[in-house]
Amino acid sequence: MGAVTPGVGRVVRVSGPLVEATGLPASAMAWMVELGERRLPGEVVAIDDDVVSVQAYDYTGGLRPGDPVTALLHPLSARLGPGLLGGVYDGLLRPLASAGVWLEPGSGRDTVPTAPVTFTPSVSAGDTVGPGAVLGTVPTGSLLHRVLVPPDVSGEVTELRPEGPCAPDDVVASVGGVEVPMTTIWPVRRPRPYAERLDGREPLFTGQRVLDVLFPVARGSTAAVPGGFGTGKTVLLQQVAKWCDADVIVYVGCGERGNEMADVLQELASLTDPRTGGRLVDRSVVIANTSNMPMMAREASVYSAVTVAEYYRDMGYDAVVIADSTSRWAEALRELASRTGALPAEEGYPAALSSALAAFYERAGRVRTVGGRVGSVTVIGAVSPAGGDMSEPVTAHTQRFVRSLWTLDRDLAYARHYPAVSWAGSFARDVDTLAAWHAGNGDPGWARRRARLAALLAEADRLTALAELLGITALPGHERMVMLAGRLLREGLLQQNAMSPVDAVSPAPRSTALIAMLLDVVDACLRLVEHGVPAASVEEVDFSPVLRAREEAGPDDIAAVEARRDEVVARLARLEPSP
Ligand code: ADP
Ligand code: MG
Repeated sequence: MGAVTPGVGRVVRVSGPLVEATGLPASAMAWMVELGERRLPGEVVAIDDDVVSVQAYDYTGGLRPGDPVTALLHPLSARLGPGLLGGVYDGLLRPLASAGVWLEPGSGRDTVPTAPVTFTPSVSAGDTVGPGAVLGTVPTGSLLHRVLVPPDVSGEVTELRPEGPCAPDDVVASVGGVEVPMTTIWPVRRPRPYAERLDGREPLFTGQRVLDVLFPVARGSTAAVPGGFGTGKTVLLQQVAKWCDADVIVYVGCGERGNEMADVLQELASLTDPRTGGRLVDRSVVIANTSNMPMMAREASVYSAVTVAEYYRDMGYDAVVIADSTSRWAEALRELASRTGALPAEEGYPAALSSALAAFYERAGRVRTVGGRVGSVTVIGAVSPAGGDMSEPVTAHTQRFVRSLWTLDRDLAYARHYPAVSWAGSFARDVDTLAAWHAGNGDPGWARRRARLAALLAEADRLTALAELLGITALPGHERMVMLAGRLLREGLLQQNAMSPVDAVSPAPRSTALIAMLLDVVDACLRLVEHGVPAASVEEVDFSPVLRAREEAGPDDIAAVEARRDEVVARLARLEPSP
């Protein structure tokens, strides 16, 4: 064994992703270290006298007692710059594009997006600027990248880079004697500061009707999608990633299948962003930690993702973090806890599971930034409870921390009712404030429509159960019309095929027109039975024009939706008893 140099320790034990070392300075807690000759990245997670425990972010195969451990004197950090959008990274934000979605241990240490960009200054030498001020801009795809004064820097701009090409590590300005480079380094576990949280809530439109209409999520808020295997979590999250009206999407594939990541990448690259006309991939940052990649990088990946989102929030943008699946992330916590011999809490998860989940979701928010702009980070996570058991710890804790819960129902998925979002088992805590937003933005009927839909769906479920016991003919005409309404709303409104060229995304006007169409038809049915028409005659009417409207009316063709309503309402009118 060679002489131990200051800051260099030695491996004493390797147990999967847990590495114990001695000889590191006592102040090393939360520092990054490099393990062995291959300099595998790791993070100090515990110190016990002279022995430090390191969580390794790459496979530790080949690492042996006696191998060197070098302290890097900084915490786990992300390198943030204009090259991020459109890229694919691992959990430590190391680019993966060149290596496919597989990373050799210890490779890809360089996280610098290397292509030079064009910098245009927004200030002049001699100006006095504060934290968060825009020093200059860089065009990146459809988004104007803003180079900001770091949170703790202010003063006079003494040196300023002129307009022109700029490399990632180039200094763009000197502010109060501090050199500000184009790229910034930020410790991912520390939330980036903001001036204040903003109360006013506005919806994040997802383009998925069942969400936008029944269980909306606010910008800067949180949502979770619990659901058993194959219920459609990944498809739903990918739909939201593709179509929600945010400026930046950070998509984390965490412990799931690699081919799903390849699919989402290919789709993002081939689809056009309806808001900008650019490619969807150009507003996306993809973090891939698929099931075949080192487990502990999953743990880091969600923090890297939120840090990237906060970075764009601080530029004044609306960012969305989508994590599929937080359960696989929690598995990494459990794996390390079991290796450290920590006393397990529920089902082998560490006692810190709940606070770790809370800390992740708490980084969502709509804020006034330190530079005075408004930006948001919305966090949406999938939860995959084993065997669909919604009481298991990750699902149970997550439900407490999120504002919207989109529970996927196995029976709906089996019946191929997609998205299989359960109207009975989901919630949205911000409905009242979002209703106020809709009212203030030209749609005062939003809350009333939502309440009516929810009531009809719940009542139809109750009556269906009753009809199974008593037989449908035992129910009065009005009740049978409510059951019919439930069917029309489920098939004509809530179902939405992700593969449909017409209906994969449903903009708000289209969703509203479909609801209005169906409710008009429901009202016409209710009127008929009130006027003494037998329920069975109404049930026999061909409703297919309104049921197929979502698939057959063009994406923006509101007139076609209304024509179908008129057709079916006229058909119903013919049942009206003559006076
Ligand atoms: P999970 O991630 O919950 O295991 P997936 O998202 O992979 O489930 O969905 C499983 C299958 O369900 C998909 O391959 C697809 O065939 C079907 N599916 C789910 N959601 C939809 C949807 N919105 N439209 C059409 N098919 C869907
Ligand atoms: Mg999935």
